[in-house]
Amino acid sequence: MAAPTSIFSVMTGLAIETGAINLGQGFPDEDGPAAILDAAAQAMRDGHNQYAPPKGVPALREAVAAHQSRSYGLSLDPETEVQVTFGATEALAAALLALVDHGDEVIALDPTYDSYRPIVERAGGSLRPIVLEPPAWRVTEESVLQALNPRTRILLLNSPHNPTGRVLDRSELELLAALCIEHDLIAITDEVYEHLVFDGEHVPLASLPGMRERTLTVSSIGKTYALTGWKIGWISGPSELVAQVHAIKQFLTFSGGTPLQHAAAVALDLPDADIRAAADVLAGKRDRLATGLQAAGLDVLPSAGTYFLNADVSPVAGDTNATELCLRLPHDAGVVAIPIAAFRANPGGPARSIVRFAFCKRDEVLDEACERLAAWGARQR
Ligand code: PMP
Ligand code: GLN
Repeated sequence: MAAPTSIFSVMTGLAIETGAINLGQGFPDEDGPAAILDAAAQAMRDGHNQYAPPKGVPALREAVAAHQSRSYGLSLDPETEVQVTFGATEALAAALLALVDHGDEVIALDPTYDSYRPIVERAGGSLRPIVLEPPAWRVTEESVLQALNPRTRILLLNSPHNPTGRVLDRSELELLAALCIEHDLIAITDEVYEHLVFDGEHVPLASLPGMRERTLTVSSIGKTYALTGWKIGWISGPSELVAQVHAIKQFLTFSGGTPLQHAAAVALDLPDADIRAAADVLAGKRDRLATGLQAAGLDVLPSAGTYFLNADVSPVAGDTNATELCLRLPHDAGVVAIPIAAFRANPGGPARSIVRFAFCKRDEVLDEACERLAAWGARQR
């Protein structure tokens, strides 16, 4: 079975090849807090350099449990209900490989993060889209019912949502929770952007009545602390489900990243005000990019969270296929962005001219990208 090439590798490859500004793959161009970097260096000097316990170092499991309790009122036993992983990616892969059997179906918001489908299919299942439509990208009862059928076993939910920047509201979460309970689904929730919310509030699905016992919650250090290359993540939930994830994870990577796990524990214990301040800076960047893209003639869609902002390029480029446009843009405009179609089961439809831009970059980089896009836009007229 041939695996697809990650769109992020393709687009970052193009940025390197052309020297274009990379607003494609979502990674910050400044490192996270010095206190976390120092904690990693200290952990190495303190001799935390061999295999970690397979569940993860106790300090990090305890920090995850404390974080879930403090942030959302979710209580977890760090011994049996938390598993540390190599980023959210491994947590999601291990959970899907553990829980999806041949013929099972998994429902997920579409646009869909790129790692979900290959893993579901590798496990012998299939992914059914809960189709969200622009500009609101809302979950409706109709969209979920279209995806559900008697073979559905799992809801794989991502909120705050990459790539749309939507933060699902309580009524959408209640609808999903009710359907999970009615159809006896397990929920796996990808909450890597949980602290990067600018408008509204992040509510974990596990915190809704009846959901804790059927939900595995995934997050990681990468986005919140601007340390995407560290790949320290975690998954938490009822002990029977976490044990199944552990059984798979031990033979994927066993354990590792020991000093970074220690530093991640320090990160999770940083004051909430520091995390809020970092999100406020990011909200300023979102606004800066939105203003610049609008000035370049693009039609900017709202983004309530994540690293990402979407814009419709058709006011500048006409009725266009954004996938082709994004392959030309690095050469034509000196900017890399990612077409929403890359995250769609059906790449046509009203989202075909929408493009995702990452705003987790220095202000001068965002300004330069917008100037280049404005110059490119002027050449289209
Ligand atoms: N889920 C989503 C929605 C993401 O955007 C990303 C990107 N990092 C991941 C999972 C992967 O997270 P990690 O880097 O911790 O593996
Ligand atoms: N999450 C990042 C994005 O959406 C990419 C992570 C990756 O390259 N796998 O841009």
